Amino acid sequence: MSHVDVPVYRPRSLDEAVRLRAEHPEATVFAGGTDLMVYLEAGIVRPVAILDLWGLPELRRLRSVTGGQLYGAGLTCTDVIHAPSTHPLVRDAASTVGAAQIQNRATLGGNICNSSPAGDTLPVWLALRAEFELMSVHGTRRVPAAHFWRGYKQTELRPYELLVRILVPPLAGHMHFRKVGTRMAQSISKVVFAGRYVPGVDAALAFGAVGPVPMRCPAAERALVAGARPAEVAALVESEVTPIDDVRSTAAYRRKVAGNIVRRWLESR
Ligand SMILES: Cc1cc2nc3c(=O)[nH]c(=O)nc-3n(C[C@H](O)[C@H](O)[C@H](O)COP(=O)(O)OP(=O)(O)OC[C@H]3O[C@@H](n4cnc5c(N)ncnc54)[C@H](O)[C@@H]3O)c2cc1C
Repeated sequence: MSHVDVPVYRPRSLDEAVRLRAEHPEATVFAGGTDLMVYLEAGIVRPVAILDLWGLPELRRLRSVTGGQLYGAGLTCTDVIHAPSTHPLVRDAASTVGAAQIQNRATLGGNICNSSPAGDTLPVWLALRAEFELMSVHGTRRVPAAHFWRGYKQTELRPYELLVRILVPPLAGHMHFRKVGTRMAQSISKVVFAGRYVPGVDAALAFGAVGPVPMRCPAAERALVAGARPAEVAALVESEVTPIDDVRSTAAYRRKVAGNIVRRWLESR
């Protein structure tokens, strides 16, 4: 960041980070910088100050608590790929983010707050019914992942808040993660999927890159729980997703792929 000639605040503790956030709400929060450096180079983001969270130890912990697992927002993809207790869906998603160089810097919090509809971890948090802990000098509030992304690149995060942790409750079921891009590695998702299914009881079919925000498919989920066949569930998925044509793919392709991912997963169980 040597070429960015603005004040850079580097807190040494989470308390200090939260205090600095309140004192400098105009500052751009910087975690691993893998999204931000691209925006800075392109002139899309012109920061007046930077709050640098990189390396804050309190944000880089994964621990088990009564309500499940708590992932620090500063954990990198590499951290969670190698941590033995990482949830399989989180590991699968982290493993598909860029390549090793990006994974070494890309944080979970950055993926969530960057709020790209194609962010690879986003459907995972939906499928796992995760909650995000948003901290400020006023305290901490928990927001379900399902309510966090409010529109294209819009989140529930207030200017004086930081995302500090992600709570993943202990849910059972069959799990599946699938990313479809132009190549096997180093490509942004055309469609990304995370699924969880407890036969006859509960289902989550969550997608990214098929709408302005990551989304679930409630009609398809209800049909699945009620015992519908894979092809029927897939047809409902295709009718529920809301993709667009863009530089990476067409809406029609994304719709078909979304259905195919679900059908093949259900047929393979
Ligand atoms: C070559 C390349 C390949 C990539 N491939 C993929 C890919 O395959 N899949 C994918 O999903 N992404 C990919 N990305 C995007 C990026 O790597 C990820 O989104 C990454 O997780 C961002 O994390 P970061 O820590 O680098 O975020 P940063 O760039 O530091 O921040 C991103 C945004 O989140 C905000 N932010 C970060 N942390 C917090 C916090 N704790 N509280 C509040 N706000 C916060 C920042 O202010 C900023 O707006 C790629 C990027 C590059 C450059």
